Amino acid sequence: MANGNQQNQPIFILRDGTERFQGSRATKMNILAGKTLAETIRTTLGPKGMDKMLVDGMGDIVVSNDGATILGEMDITHPAAKMLVEVAKKQDDVVGDGTTTVVVLAGELLKKAEELFENGVHASTVLRGFTLALDKVIEILFGISIDANDKETLEKIAKTAMTGKGTDVAADELSDVIVEAVLRVENNGNVDKKDINIQRVNGGEISESEIIDGILIDKGRASPSMPEEINDAKIALLKYPIEHKDTNTDSKANFSSPEQLQMFLDSEEQELKNMVNNIVESGANVLFCQKGIDDVAMHYLAKNGIYAIKRVKKSDISRIAKATGAELVTDIKDLTSDKLGTAGHIFEKKIFDQKFTFVEECDNPKSCSIIVRGSTRHISSEIERALEDALGVVSATIEDEKVVIGGGSPEIEMAKQLKAYADTIGGREQLAIKAFAEALEIIPRTLAENAGLDAIDVLVDLRSAHETNPYMGIDVFTGEVVNMKDRGVIEPQRVKKQAILSAAEACEMILRIDDLVAAEGSLN
Ligand code: ADP
Repeated sequence: MANGNQQNQPIFILRDGTERFQGSRATKMNILAGKTLAETIRTTLGPKGMDKMLVDGMGDIVVSNDGATILGEMDITHPAAKMLVEVAKKQDDVVGDGTTTVVVLAGELLKKAEELFENGVHASTVLRGFTLALDKVIEILFGISIDANDKETLEKIAKTAMTGKGTDVAADELSDVIVEAVLRVENNGNVDKKDINIQRVNGGEISESEIIDGILIDKGRASPSMPEEINDAKIALLKYPIEHKDTNTDSKANFSSPEQLQMFLDSEEQELKNMVNNIVESGANVLFCQKGIDDVAMHYLAKNGIYAIKRVKKSDISRIAKATGAELVTDIKDLTSDKLGTAGHIFEKKIFDQKFTFVEECDNPKSCSIIVRGSTRHISSEIERALEDALGVVSATIEDEKVVIGGGSPEIEMAKQLKAYADTIGGREQLAIKAFAEALEIIPRTLAENAGLDAIDVLVDLRSAHETNPYMGIDVFTGEVVNMKDRGVIEPQRVKKQAILSAAEACEMILRIDDLVAAEGSLN
C-alpha cells in the first residue's frame, strides 16, 4: 500500500499484497463470516441435532455433535470466525457445555445488528442497546432460575447434557455413573474435575460403562514376571529413567579384549542393580515411573516382587500423588520411605483386550475413574465427550446450586421480558434491545427446526404459552409445547449465563472492528 508525501514520493507502510477492508466493508465481511459459522454449526443443536463428520489432512475421521469438538477440528481461517471459535472454546473450558448455543446465539446477534445497520442505526447505538439488553437479560435469567442440587436434579442435568450425543441407549446408567463420580470427589461444595479420570475401552456395550473407586491407568505391569497384584502397596513415583546413563545410540565404546567388554557390561548391570536396590531399600513394592525402565532393571524389580509400570503419563502421576500421598522423586537417590504413598490394593486387569492397572483403597478416597465402553473408537470417543460435558454441568450445579429449565423455555421467557423492558427505554437503543430479544429466540427456533417441526408455529405456541408459565418449552421428541420442568430438561444456570455473556462479548468484539488488514493469502 502506498501514499504520496510532499515530494510525491510513495511510502510503503504495508507489505505488498496485504488486503485491507475499511468501514462497513470490514464489518460486513466479519458479520458474514460469523453468520456462516453459526449457520454451519446450527444443525447440531439440541437432542435432534445432526452430527458432523470431519476428516483431517491425515484422513483421520471425527464424527461429533459437540460444538467445541466440531469447531476445534474445523480448519477455520477467517479472523472473525476464529474469534467465535475462541469464544466457544472458552465456554467449554469455563463451564464445559453450551458451546453450540454460544456460537448460534452470537451468529444471530450479528445478523440482527446487520439488519439494524441497514435500517440506518449507528453501530455505537447498537452496541449501547446490546449492553443494556445484556445486563437486563442476566437479571431476567436469575429471576427464572431455581435453587437445586439434589441427586435427582443432578441426574436430570447430566441426562440433558448428554441427550442426542450417542448415549441415549444407556442415558440412565450413564447419568447415574456421572453423578456418583462427582459426588465421590466433591469436597465442601467444590469439584476438581481432574479427580475424575475417564478411560476409554474400545469394545463392549455403552451400558457396561462403570465407575471405579480409585485410579485406573491404561497400562499393565511392565513385565509378566512381576506380581499381578499387591496388597498394602507402598508406592514410589519416579521421574527418573531406570536405564543406563549412556543409552544414547550414537555413543561408542571401544574394547581391546573380551574381558574389558565383560567388565563394561557388568558395570552397566551393576548400575541398574544399584538403582533397583535403591527402590527396594526405600520399602516400595510398587513403582510408577514417568520415564523408561531397562529390561535388566525390570528383571531385578520382578525378582524383588515389585509391581512396576514405565512411561506413566504426567496426569496419572499427579492423580496418584494426590490419592496416595506419594511424592514424585526426580532423582532416584532421593527416594526414601517418607516419599512413598500407600494404597490397599493394586492389581492388573484386562478389560476387553486392553490391560489396566487399578489403584484402589487409596488414602485420599476423593478420586475415581470411569470406564467408558463403546463398540468402536468413534463411538467411545463421542461418549467420552458427552460424559465430559455431563461432568462439567453436574459439577457446576453442585458448586452454584442454581439451575434453569431448558428446551428453549428460558430464551422465550427472556425474550418476552426483554421486549417489555425495551418499551421502557427511549431512543434508538430500544430497537437494539428488541433485536437482542429476537436473537434469543434463535435457540427454540433451531431446536424446532432440527426436530423437523414448523418453527413459526412452534414459536407462536411458545409465546402464547409464556403468557402464563415461564417453563414452557419444546419437547423435540413429541413436537409438543410442554412444561419442560415436568420433562426433566434442566441445565445449570452457569452454562446459560456464560453462553449469553460470551455470545454478546464475541458479537461486540466483531462489531467494533472497522478496519481489517490481512497479510496476503491469510483470508483464503
Ligand atoms: P450445546 O453445545 O450448546 O450444549 P446441545 O446440542 O447440547 O448444545 O443442545 C443444548 C440445547 O438443547 C439446550 O437449549 C437444551 O435446553 C436443549 N435440550 C436438551 N435436551 C432437550 C430435550 N429433551 N428437549 C428439548 N430441548 C432439549
